[in-house]
Amino acid sequence: RKEPRTVLSARGLSMSFGAFSAVRNVDLDVHHARVHALIGPNGAGKTTVFNLLTKFLTPTGGTITFMGTDITRLPPDRVARMGLVRSFQISAVFPHLTVLDNVRVALQRPNGLATQFWRPLSALDSLNERADRLIAAVGLSEARNAMAADLSYGRKRVLEIATTLALDPKVLLLDEPMAGMGGEDVAVVAGIIRNVARDRAVLMVEHNLKVVADICDHVTVLQRGEILAEGDYRTVSEDPRVRAAYMGT
Ligand code: ADP
Repeated sequence: RKEPRTVLSARGLSMSFGAFSAVRNVDLDVHHARVHALIGPNGAGKTTVFNLLTKFLTPTGGTITFMGTDITRLPPDRVARMGLVRSFQISAVFPHLTVLDNVRVALQRPNGLATQFWRPLSALDSLNERADRLIAAVGLSEARNAMAADLSYGRKRVLEIATTLALDPKVLLLDEPMAGMGGEDVAVVAGIIRNVARDRAVLMVEHNLKVVADICDHVTVLQRGEILAEGDYRTVSEDPRVRAAYMGT
């Protein structure tokens, strides 16, 4: 395997809320074409780390580098435009639009946050082609003309991922992408995540450890705001400290 290309890294990342230290001294490297899981018990700091990386929170300590640029002090819309995209930023799937129209709308929003830069009509042909390519990439072609409202829960989440991919992220952050899904949908979404990670990095918070074992190349375990362990799934799952954390001891 080639040396992995780091696209996003944090050094000494820390976040305090008043006297409470929610994230302490976290180092994280996210690599191109890899699926990286962030796991840990409730309250470990996973959401806070996501908020820091996407700049919804400004860290009280440490630095974040994305594609060689120090983004520690940049606002969230800037980093989204640069290609650091979190799934829920545009998770507004419009229920009364078709799958195709939802993806077309997403493709016309350059950063998923602002609509003032809509592209001209002359770009429509390529817009339709790009929309169909994206829909095919997530396996929704047969549901192309269905109303989003009529999709199963799992397929709605898949459509959400497709609208996120419309922003062509370099790093895609997914917050519990399988939450609330049945086994069949979990397998479909797992396949899609592997597929989208072929040409971008994916960082995901996931509670389903079987999913983590199946699709993640690298796992970071947080506990009480600090990194408890990291490595491939097998290594971290055999770590006695990780076992203890998950047993609640
Ligand atoms: P996780 O996502 O792993 O469950 P969180 O990042 O949501 O953990 O929370 C980590 C800790 O930080 C928790 O103890 C939580 O109560 C605390 N926390 C999160 N956000 C805030 C905030 N805005 N103000 C105060 N405490 C917070």
